Amino acid sequence: MAGKQAPGAQRWVPDRVTPQRLRAGVDQCRGCELYENATHGVPGRGPRDAPLMVVGEQPGDQEDKAGEAFVGPAGKLLDRALAAAGIDPESVYRTNAVKHFRWERGRRGNRLHKGPTRTHVAACGPWLVAELDMVQPQGVVLLGATAAQSVYGSDFRITESRGVRLDWPDEIRGSSVVQPPDWALATMHPSAVLRSRQREDDLARLVEDLERAAGLLIP
Ligand code: SF4
Repeated sequence: MAGKQAPGAQRWVPDRVTPQRLRAGVDQCRGCELYENATHGVPGRGPRDAPLMVVGEQPGDQEDKAGEAFVGPAGKLLDRALAAAGIDPESVYRTNAVKHFRWERGRRGNRLHKGPTRTHVAACGPWLVAELDMVQPQGVVLLGATAAQSVYGSDFRITESRGVRLDWPDEIRGSSVVQPPDWALATMHPSAVLRSRQREDDLARLVEDLERAAGLLIP
């Protein structure tokens, strides 16, 4: 968003976040310009006391239309991978680093995913902090580089730190989380698995990483 200022989401974040206030606040948020071309703001979803939070990049085309996170093909693959790793998908809170769909028009008139910039991720950071405060998960799985960098900064490389337990940083985006997670673990985004030429191998690695995350959860 070269040349555009993003005031950031903080002024739309309510003092006490509930799922209902989260949904209303995200939908009304004007913290950056991404709301302008999106259908819905898409908050996270899942149990409020989920032990595990999964963070992706941004809503996709189907999520934008439905207003629900991870309901498209990547979400379905995530569910399969979680189940294969021994994690009940219904027990997981799932959200994205950025809550509105960024896209560009394709040659056939379709909407093509366009990754959020660092400015968008920074602007939307207060919503992720609010969700972490609301859910207080034991651990967080970060799906893909955008999610991982939303927590660990732009120098973070998935290729170097994938699938290992990471200490939660003291601050994310300049904010402390009230009850920080014990750990985070970064892995590949399921949409990248779907695009991969070695899909079965990459799916197997995603499941392995999720198995490691499951092993870190305290029953
Ligand atoms: S992407 Fe995030 S910061 Fe930007 S308008 Fe949407 S909710 Fe607000």
